[in-house]
Amino acid sequence: MKAGVQRERIEGYLKFIEFTGEHPRLSRTVLRLAYRVPPLKRALPVSTRIYMGGRILESYRLDRERGEISFAGVDRQIVGAEFPEVVFRNLAQFLGKERAQRIMYEMHFRIMEEQMKKLHYEEIFPRHLAPLFREPVDQGLLESDPSLSRLYGEMERMLLRLLFSESGWGRPEFDSTPVPGKVTVYKSVESVWIRPSAEPVCYAMAGSLAAFVSHIAGKRYTARETRCAAAGAPRCEFAVESET
Ligand SMILES: [Zn+2]
Repeated sequence: MKAGVQRERIEGYLKFIEFTGEHPRLSRTVLRLAYRVPPLKRALPVSTRIYMGGRILESYRLDRERGEISFAGVDRQIVGAEFPEVVFRNLAQFLGKERAQRIMYEMHFRIMEEQMKKLHYEEIFPRHLAPLFREPVDQGLLESDPSLSRLYGEMERMLLRLLFSESGWGRPEFDSTPVPGKVTVYKSVESVWIRPSAEPVCYAMAGSLAAFVSHIAGKRYTARETRCAAAGAPRCEFAVESET
């Protein structure tokens, strides 16, 4: 993470985020007007459109013939919401539950790790701010610069929204940014499909969260589910720790 982002650009984007939060209807109207000018629509970064009231689905590129959607340089197949449950049950049947849990975790760690590497951050964020996510975060720099720290937190929450909440996985909330100690997830898709259960079931979510935090921090982190909605908790909770 380089310290080279100019102060007025940090303050400017923070003001923009605050303004759109205070004036949602006006922002949405301006966005609709911008959508009538295709070059302008294409030029707006995804996060800018979403702050103005747009939806992530409007930013997907759809290849109807291949049944493929792509987003900021990452291709995705369209699969049913039951997919994680079917994969898990089949793995558990042939390899046993513990191995199935391990595979779900590692598989989704790898998938999220690849996505975080491949994402075109300059399509998501304003071009001058995108480099913040290409390299590990400099926590010392954020601690010394409250505005940059606030902006980084906002952008990180936007990434979580794009990669988790609005991709159908459930809505994660970090207890602190940039690196959380605890993550709460609302409506984790695994907890909806793999239930009821006497123990936590969200291994794909745990692997994905661990990879997300590992990318941000620049070193490997693990995530362990401590409470799960599939086992009767109000929501799923994960402890995030640095791997030693
Ligand atoms: Zn869970």
